[in-house]
Amino acid sequence: MANSNVVLHVADVHKRFGGLHALADIDLQVEEGQTHAIIGPNGAGKSTLLNVIIGKLAPTSGQVVFDGAILTGRKPYQINQLGIARVFQTPEIFADLSVLHNVMIPAFAKRDGTFTLNMLRSLDSETGIRQEAEHMLEDVGMLNRKDMQAASLSRGDKRRMELAMCLIQHPRLLLLDEPTAGMSRHDTNTTIELLKKIKSRGMTKVIIEHDMHVVFSLADKISVLAQGRIIADGTPDEVRGNPKVQEAYLGG
Ligand code: ADP
Ligand code: MG
Repeated sequence: MANSNVVLHVADVHKRFGGLHALADIDLQVEEGQTHAIIGPNGAGKSTLLNVIIGKLAPTSGQVVFDGAILTGRKPYQINQLGIARVFQTPEIFADLSVLHNVMIPAFAKRDGTFTLNMLRSLDSETGIRQEAEHMLEDVGMLNRKDMQAASLSRGDKRRMELAMCLIQHPRLLLLDEPTAGMSRHDTNTTIELLKKIKSRGMTKVIIEHDMHVVFSLADKISVLAQGRIIADGTPDEVRGNPKVQEAYLGG
């Protein structure tokens, strides 16, 4: 069932780790402009699925197609250059550098196709990129922390900074692995508001989330993963009322 609005298609993907069938028969279609959530209990295969999409893991079989391009077999940086950015479950940041430089680097790397540490010296002369990075930091509510060392940020602020590092790439598809993990309720709510703001700009998002509150306030579509299989998908209302989901997820 080809749908012309489908921007990401995970087609019949399987992933085995030795004897463990971590992903089985995964078929997932993400439509342009939508926020598609993937939920499921711990160990369901959510991060594995995300890693297959971004090219960190090769599927055992099946393929991932993004905007007509087959991603399977490409390297993570190549997939990134096609317009897919991601926020990891554990933030990957430049701990020794300032917040501002952390946000500038992805824009720099995108423009020049590479970034090496000896390019750091030229960062300060990049006025255009600096202004854009400041704008992104303002967007995520962190402009007042721009000169802080990234290592000294709270967990929630690191994740917000990482979001700014993604947004400055202007991705077509943003992947988020538990973006509110480890956040206080206040920080979680701030992040939800932020993600809603991004949503209103029409960016397509795949969000992996454990927190039901986050999922139901953001998602247009939800796919439920349990033991490596999609056991249900649909709108939040459809998924909420599905007894299989309540058994596998809420009871799990
Ligand atoms: P989730 O993100 O939903 O909590 P994961 O995708 O991290 O789940 O893990 C799914 C299953 O695959 C788990 O049983 C996990 O132990 C296993 N797994 C994940 N990564 C690897 C790996 N690199 N090697 C072996 N097993 C793995
Ligand atoms: Mg995970």
